[in-house]
Amino acid sequence: MFSRKGIIFVVSAPSGAGKTTLCQRLCSMDSGIKHSVSYTTRKPRPGEINDIHYTFIDEDEFRAMISEGDFVEWASVHGNLYGTSKRRIAHMVDSGIDVILDIDVQGARQIRSFFPDSVSLFILPPSMDVLKERLSGRMSDSPKVIAARIQKATDEIMEYENYSYVIVNDALDKALAELKAVVAAERIKTFRTDHRWIKENFGNVKSCMKEHFKTY
Ligand code: ADP
Ligand code: 5GP
Repeated sequence: MFSRKGIIFVVSAPSGAGKTTLCQRLCSMDSGIKHSVSYTTRKPRPGEINDIHYTFIDEDEFRAMISEGDFVEWASVHGNLYGTSKRRIAHMVDSGIDVILDIDVQGARQIRSFFPDSVSLFILPPSMDVLKERLSGRMSDSPKVIAARIQKATDEIMEYENYSYVIVNDALDKALAELKAVVAAERIKTFRTDHRWIKENFGNVKSCMKEHFKTY
């Protein structure tokens, strides 16, 4: 039996570009892909639920997990610690479920070197002005936090060249369609196909043809 391994998709973007929105919509439409819930020391925003949006822990707990080697990658982003659990990823990938990691550029670099077959996508806002509007419109961060996130955006955006795909999130439906197209195309890459099934079903086509034509 072909036991397909899940694909790891890594999505990065400057804060406010819309990656959470895109990833959530994708996962709600496609049961074959799940968002990997990260651990963070950041305080929950209104409406964020523990173990759904993030697993919220304090810095001592986070540092203990680093010492235990629990993270496949972790980074300090905007003054908080964020990390991806090895166990959570392995569980999904081994069950054949595709995983989407919404992580920053430092974490994406670590994932790319650890999982060379992972697929990375960079989400761009249509402009810096729109990015500012989206960060303010989200109403989840203080003006000080928003200013820090905007200041970091330019450096983050310059990382786009290290990613396999770039999606401009101007119209949400168009950006979502592009994200879905990447997932669909990656799933049918030749190196991920069920080679054994193809060989079993079509590998002996020549001898079958000979048998068939013998009767004529
Ligand atoms: P990120 O996860 O990249 O920080 P979010 O997904 O939280 O960004 O999006 C930031 C804000 O922008 C949210 O209020 C979201 O509803 C809004 N948003 C996301 N994509 C679009 C879009 N294509 N057009 C307009 N608003 C958007
Ligand atoms: P936010 O606080 O807005 O939810 O996320 C801030 C940044 O942290 C975003 O760029 C997000 O992609 C990133 N992030 C979220 N989870 C992780 C993680 O597990 N690892 C890393 N490296 N970055 C993460």
